[in-house]
Amino acid sequence: MSPIRVWAVPGVDNSRSSELIPPGLPVFWKSGSPNHFRLLKGWLSLCDGGRCGYQGECRRNSNTLPTRLLDLGEGGIHTDTVYLRGTAEISTNPAETRYIALSHCWGEKMKGMTPEWCTTYDNESTRKKEGFSIDEVLPKTFKDTIKVARAIGVRYLWIDSLCIMQGDGGDWNTEATKMTEVFKNAYCTIAAASAEDSDQGFLDQRESDFPYAMVPNSSHGKVFVCRATDDFPGDVENGVLNTRAWVLQERLLSARTIHFTKRQTYWECGGGVRCETLTNMRNGNHSFRYDPNFPGSIGDRSLTAQIKLVQDLFEQYTTLSLTYQNDRPTAIHSLAMELGKALDTNVAYGIFGKAPFLHRSLLWRGLGCSLKQILPELPSWSWMAYHVNDEQSKDAAKIKYQDVEDVEWDKSVRLVEQQEAGNNRWILKARVMRRRDTSEEDGDKEDLYFDLGQALDDVRYAVMGRKADANPTYYVLVVQGSPASGWKRVGMGLVPKRYILFDDQDIVAKIW
Ligand SMILES: [Zn+2]
Repeated sequence: MSPIRVWAVPGVDNSRSSELIPPGLPVFWKSGSPNHFRLLKGWLSLCDGGRCGYQGECRRNSNTLPTRLLDLGEGGIHTDTVYLRGTAEISTNPAETRYIALSHCWGEKMKGMTPEWCTTYDNESTRKKEGFSIDEVLPKTFKDTIKVARAIGVRYLWIDSLCIMQGDGGDWNTEATKMTEVFKNAYCTIAAASAEDSDQGFLDQRESDFPYAMVPNSSHGKVFVCRATDDFPGDVENGVLNTRAWVLQERLLSARTIHFTKRQTYWECGGGVRCETLTNMRNGNHSFRYDPNFPGSIGDRSLTAQIKLVQDLFEQYTTLSLTYQNDRPTAIHSLAMELGKALDTNVAYGIFGKAPFLHRSLLWRGLGCSLKQILPELPSWSWMAYHVNDEQSKDAAKIKYQDVEDVEWDKSVRLVEQQEAGNNRWILKARVMRRRDTSEEDGDKEDLYFDLGQALDDVRYAVMGRKADANPTYYVLVVQGSPASGWKRVGMGLVPKRYILFDDQDIVAKIW
């Protein structure tokens, strides 16, 4: 269902209406035209000048730069040649080195390839010394981004495949963990919201036609109806770019973003969302997510709100698509670390170390799917280690956190950093209890969820917390293993006390 726009224009001459654009019907500037760019500049200067409605500064003034940037040319001299720059060689004065960051889809067709426009160790030095041709080398989405950057007067640009070394021996692994700095410190982010891949571009090809219907004689005079033109949820939230897992942190860490969508351009900053129709909107319930100081700003919220926020974000993240499933821990890494900083806790594989975040973040289950652990280097209790257990499936391995009420969390549950097999690892410690095979028919049953879909016997329970009740129930991780080899998570659940043997062993064990 999409929203509609209804408007009445009293006193318009009926006889001429068929050839005229009715007053009230929004008509946008041609995408990429001087007037369109003038509007973008207007939004920027409004926000730069602190007149965007946000009580603070949206604009960054950091002198931390990404490792490399693309230099589009000095002082408005725009040639076809652009240069790659190592930022160690350029000024770090924020006024001189403001840059735009691009958030975009690579596109499935690039899977497994290193397209020729990418920067590699083979072409790096030529790109730095002699530059390279925009026209001959770059795909349309990048060309459009350069057009916009130049039009709004920004000299430097960050695009992942140009500023991170691609291909064999590239520095993707180290650079991919620095996304916080890249997007946080950008002068502004350009989101190619409607471009499905790098070739598609986002200028000159939007839907500019708005069919409308007219009711000639109503009690309000002449009434017009058309599809709502300002549809930020439809154009941006549900647009192709925002279905991509990498993009969640790019958007959340950006202080301000210009979204180029199929129908119009939207400006988003701490002051809300601005449309080309000059409508100014609040960003709904999620406005705090787009606060320029997010996620630092969540420190002031209540504990309940903080937990809900983190869980909502991770649940949302697990619904998003990844070209490479193995990127699951990396594509959210920067955001997770920033959340950890804001909440003053360490973060290991999507699990927060501080109680009660720790207990709450361990109590996840797969949503509507059975899972398969695809990353054995990650612990079994991290949802990041899993993918759906179906080779053919394109679905994401969605998770859902357990709703809890009145719980006394178990104090022995801890994350401990340890040296194991030459690596520093976070190990989970918890009380692992034997399961009591009870023949009593009466009373509540165990409510167990098994990660791989198959119910297992011979399990034990790692106690997370106790639900305060006349008949206590325990929130547990279901584990398998042995005291000698250690334990692995195989599921989670809610278990009435009579199923747990509290008698002999109150030993805190290692779970990996
Ligand atoms: Zn602003």
